[in-house]
Amino acid sequence: QVSDTLAKEGPSSPSYDWFQTDSLVTIVIYTKQKDINLDSIIVDHQDNSFRAETIIKDYSYIIHVGLSHEVEEDFSVRVVENVGKIEIVLKKKETTSWKRLGHPLENHNSLIPRKDTGLYYRKCQLISKEGVTHDTKLFCLMLPPSAHLQVPIGQHVYLKLTITGTEIVKPYTPVSDFLLSEFKEPVLLNNKYIYFLIKIYPDGLFTPELDHLQIGDSVSISNPEGNFKTSQFQELEDLFLLAAGTGFTPMVKILNYALTNIPSLRKVKLMFFNKTEDDIIWRSQLEKLAFKDKRFDVEFVLSAPTSEWNGKRGHISPALLSEFLKRSLDKSKVLICICGPTPFTEQGIRLLHELNFSKDEIHSFTA
Ligand code: FAD
Ligand code: NAD
Repeated sequence: QVSDTLAKEGPSSPSYDWFQTDSLVTIVIYTKQKDINLDSIIVDHQDNSFRAETIIKDYSYIIHVGLSHEVEEDFSVRVVENVGKIEIVLKKKETTSWKRLGHPLENHNSLIPRKDTGLYYRKCQLISKEGVTHDTKLFCLMLPPSAHLQVPIGQHVYLKLTITGTEIVKPYTPVSDFLLSEFKEPVLLNNKYIYFLIKIYPDGLFTPELDHLQIGDSVSISNPEGNFKTSQFQELEDLFLLAAGTGFTPMVKILNYALTNIPSLRKVKLMFFNKTEDDIIWRSQLEKLAFKDKRFDVEFVLSAPTSEWNGKRGHISPALLSEFLKRSLDKSKVLICICGPTPFTEQGIRLLHELNFSKDEIHSFTA
């Protein structure tokens, strides 16, 4: 009843159907939307419980059933974009004919606001952990075969660990590996790996525990969250990225996406604020990219440099910003993304408004 009411306010409710062959069960979701892709659907099955969450704007359409028969752990997901149809193909463990898909579980066949769906977690495996700076590491986690999940650009997930009996949860923004040219990964496993750049704080609550995990240990990952939309890139000409410390993480996928998918783009500039040279994440990779792609420039600003540092110094300031934020054309379409410690981001937004950038031209990443 509740979901019916909400459905009237939000997008028109999707529907689903299922059919079977001797060996397969196909669940079809008709979203009635055209802008659906593999990022829009999150599927999990654990034991016999099957859950598929389709994200449609600010709503989620949920299929959640206790399957009537056993299926194999892995499955396939296909999206027919032009008709907004999603197909999930499960493999039967036995070739019996199913009389029904299963019994309904929580929120089954309902369209609910995303903020009300709660965080849903699945256990991932730690595959690798590599030092990037003296305190920041690149963690690779692998999704189980029983999950389909892709984290969209600009969104974060929550990682969960149980520490001495208490569940601890913190948000992290996945990065892509496009800056790591030496990187090789079997194509088949592509969407199963999720990468994170995480700074370890020795006196922190969560990160020392994460750092102590062994390869093969598990960490739970939630569904993605966040309000960044790639439509903000439409017709974009100048992209300015202001990052401080690990506030660099959302910029990685943004940089890759913008340089690959936005034909109107003339210039991407990253101003990267850190305390010292040793704190700069992927410095040589960023410099290499700037050398390779003339549209991209990077500038490092240090707040606690050694006397040898010849580059820019200080904290975010009107002088640094007004020099950096030069449009490539008089009236070019601009987007400024900003992320870092809360005081950095707040001060940055204030300065950007003083420099007459409008709300629509600024995207800030916050909790
Ligand atoms: P905490 O226990 O939170 O402590 C962190 C530091 O603050 C320590 O040095 C601690 O001593 C100090 N501290 C704690 N409490 C206080 C206090 N009251 N007063 C003064 N100092 C204090 N981080 C990343 O590394 N990578 C990411 O990709 C990333 N993505 C994020 C995405 C979002 C949306 C948000 C909101 C944050 C993100 N973060 C990211 C930060 C991350 O969520 C954690 O805050 C961070 O890892 C610290 O967690 P912790 O529990 O180890 O440390
Ligand atoms: P850090 O302490 O190494 O500082 C990096 C730089 O930030 C400094 O060199 C300075 O230029 C600037 N800075 C720090 N404190 C400042 C202040 N009070 N005023 C103005 N500028 C200041 O940073 P870190 O330890 O890497 O922390 C990164 C922060 O980014 C964390 O707080 C994390 O939660 C946040 N973060 C947020 C998101 C998100 O919201 N999506 C994503 C990733 C990281």
